Amino acid sequence: MTPRMWAAGTLAVLVVGLVVYAAVVVPWHRPPAPRADQVAALKEFPAGQLARARAFHGALRPAGYGSMAIGLVGALLLGLTPLGARLVTLAGRPFGGHWIAQAVLGGLIVVLVVEVVTLPLAAWRHRVVVEYGISTQSWGAWAVDLVKSYAVGAVIGGLALLGFFAVTRAAPRWWWAFGAAGAALVVVLLSFVLPVVVEPIFNKFTPMADGPLRTELMQLAARDGVPVKDVLVADASRRTRAVNAYVSGFGPTRRIVVYDTMLTEATPDEVVSVAAHELGHAKRGDVLTGTIIGALGAAAAVIALYLLGSLGWLLRWAGTDSMGDPRAIALLIALVTIAGLAGGPVQAMVSRRIESRADAHALELTGDPATFEAMQRRLGTVNLSDPDPPAWEYVMSASHPSTVERIAAARAYARGER
Ligand SMILES: [Zn+2]
Repeated sequence: MTPRMWAAGTLAVLVVGLVVYAAVVVPWHRPPAPRADQVAALKEFPAGQLARARAFHGALRPAGYGSMAIGLVGALLLGLTPLGARLVTLAGRPFGGHWIAQAVLGGLIVVLVVEVVTLPLAAWRHRVVVEYGISTQSWGAWAVDLVKSYAVGAVIGGLALLGFFAVTRAAPRWWWAFGAAGAALVVVLLSFVLPVVVEPIFNKFTPMADGPLRTELMQLAARDGVPVKDVLVADASRRTRAVNAYVSGFGPTRRIVVYDTMLTEATPDEVVSVAAHELGHAKRGDVLTGTIIGALGAAAAVIALYLLGSLGWLLRWAGTDSMGDPRAIALLIALVTIAGLAGGPVQAMVSRRIESRADAHALELTGDPATFEAMQRRLGTVNLSDPDPPAWEYVMSASHPSTVERIAAARAYARGER
């Protein structure tokens, strides 16, 4: 068997594995939130609030879709024409065309070109979130965040490119195998490392102060049988008025993080309701599930890229002769961009099912659908989310059930439907 046949076989095994794993682990058969309850909940939203939320999302849309479109066109323009390859060659020239300079600098320049072109749209977005009172950031603080995220992206991306092209050079025929294993490993590693190393670059995390709320949250976790190392408060208020909570990491790095905005905006009961949702994620190992799906997907993607490298016309378009050559960076990025856009709706659907199960967990754990509903209203009001977003947008990108769906689920629970 040739390396290519091995690659095709491995890809088939990974894809089947991914589909089977997702079929088994993702809670596909969640009962739908009763539509009648959704309609009733929507009618109860004050007309002014609904109009303001919709105006806010309408104002964000041009920048959001504009930047998606420009990002895609830019990636295709650089990746499916020799432009990207030329940029990479130029980046390596001061270093005698050394492959490391081409891989790292070339890769960063290709990404940066697209980032710079979409920068005005990011600024437009910031202006809108400030105008609607969601963001509390000055332009200076916004720019600092931007530079920080470029720096983090450059370090992670640079290391990934360096590793990738080191492997393609060392094993020109079998790099897909090492690359796939490496990509999967990186996904797992990032799950551990991001909350501990990267999140503190953007926010300060402090253990929630001792008091009735902390005691109640730790008791809730104990009652749920979920070992939680700590409940942390993030200083999100330096950036936003929005309220949120999440669980990240797993094993020794698992923590529940609550935005400090939530402690000032929401009642303690509502914080408990949100924490119960997060415990639902922890109990079902949703971070681990996401990590495994991500790792299998990353491994499959590397092999797919290798196999696409046998298409001579594609390489000629990109002005390179091999996927393993740094001059193919723009082509790799273009293909990954297309895959990301195509996979977005599937990812969102998987996420919505998992979120809906965490909601059900919160309702069962607290037995308090009234507070759950109040919290959903609070999230909707403070964050200016559209309680019932347009169907196409929901399908394309909604990571959570809509506010009216979540309220409807709470009402169904209150009636004893479960
Ligand atoms: Zn969640």
